[in-house]
Amino acid sequence: MQDRELYQEILGLKSPWSVSQVALDLEQEQVDVFVEHPTGTKFCCPECSESLPCYDHTPERQWRHLDTCQLKTILHASIPRVHCPEHGVKQVQVPWAEKGSRFTILFERFAIQVLLKTQNVKGAMSILRTKWDQTWSIVERAVARGKARKEAKAMPRLGIDEKAFLKGQNYITLVYDLDNSTVEAISDGNDADSGIACLSQLSDVQIQSVEAIAMDMSGAYVKAAKQVIPLAENKIVHDRFHVMQMATKAVDKVRHGEHRQLMNDGDDRLSKTKYIWLTSFENLSEKQQTVFEATYDLQLQTGKAWAYKEMLRDLWSQTSAASATTYFNDWYRRVIHTKLKPMKTVARSIKERLPNVVSYCTHQITNAVAEGMNSKIMSIKRRVGGFRNRQNFKTAIFFYGGGLSLDPQ
Ligand SMILES: [Zn+2]
Repeated sequence: MQDRELYQEILGLKSPWSVSQVALDLEQEQVDVFVEHPTGTKFCCPECSESLPCYDHTPERQWRHLDTCQLKTILHASIPRVHCPEHGVKQVQVPWAEKGSRFTILFERFAIQVLLKTQNVKGAMSILRTKWDQTWSIVERAVARGKARKEAKAMPRLGIDEKAFLKGQNYITLVYDLDNSTVEAISDGNDADSGIACLSQLSDVQIQSVEAIAMDMSGAYVKAAKQVIPLAENKIVHDRFHVMQMATKAVDKVRHGEHRQLMNDGDDRLSKTKYIWLTSFENLSEKQQTVFEATYDLQLQTGKAWAYKEMLRDLWSQTSAASATTYFNDWYRRVIHTKLKPMKTVARSIKERLPNVVSYCTHQITNAVAEGMNSKIMSIKRRVGGFRNRQNFKTAIFFYGGGLSLDPQ
């Protein structure tokens, strides 16, 4: 009798539901709690809430509940069905679990907390004593719930970026809300169609509210944005880190070419200097700075390319798009008259997209959120042991990075 009252309290059961039996299985370290309702109880149709007499019951079902006294706790009940004149025979909604779940609401809530805190599905499995499929079903249901609940909200600043799925091949495209640092949409691939598919998943409210879009300089996402976002041309901001990365790569190309030429003449002055040209001066160690200064003083092409790259950095500290344009044009004139082919290529591609580079000065956005999310995703991927399944990978991104309201009820 006392057991039954205790479990009634633990499970938070209210009328008409009560505990009819508690069975302890010490060998299995499990306690089975049987729940029932009095005969003659009326239940609501899940569609229209009309109060109806019980029609029949489903066979007995089980739900895993939070452990009690370190024992796996299993709730058993047959779910009543009603015969609604309008909706037919329907299974009623039980108060302790969501439809289709094998867990009680309290267990799911706890499991979601454990999964979020550990960021590690396997670790969560050992704490929760659940199997992979069971644990993953909680994740999937939480994401579906969160997406269904999501309210239409404005998203003035968004970012679109690619992410490799399975080493270097097989990309996915992600759209981020830059103000809330959340992933809003995911699609397969990284071409223009992928971009369109991804942006099209946004709600009308989101699409109409966009003021600025951060992206790299690849044509694919430019094309996609123009197709989906009204007046996108005026809203695109090419991510400054991507642009600087292009310039840094160009410096490396110059070094590579020059080094090869020098070595032909037995000149090894650029040997082992790759790293120092790729790093910002202030990030070099004291010893590296000495090497850098000595090499820079040699007046090699690589040093010149590096200096132009550093000059380009100041483009983003200009106070307006107009002054940034002036600054760039001056930089461009200097670079274009050099013999630094890779730098000239970068200069030309920036010039081509200049309004969408200097628009940074107006909107001040970057895709740094995407970079942050990347490392989060990488660590999840590592801890879960990789996501062979693409759908699971997307679900995990939404679970950990979607900013969704995941809890049941
Ligand atoms: Zn009904």
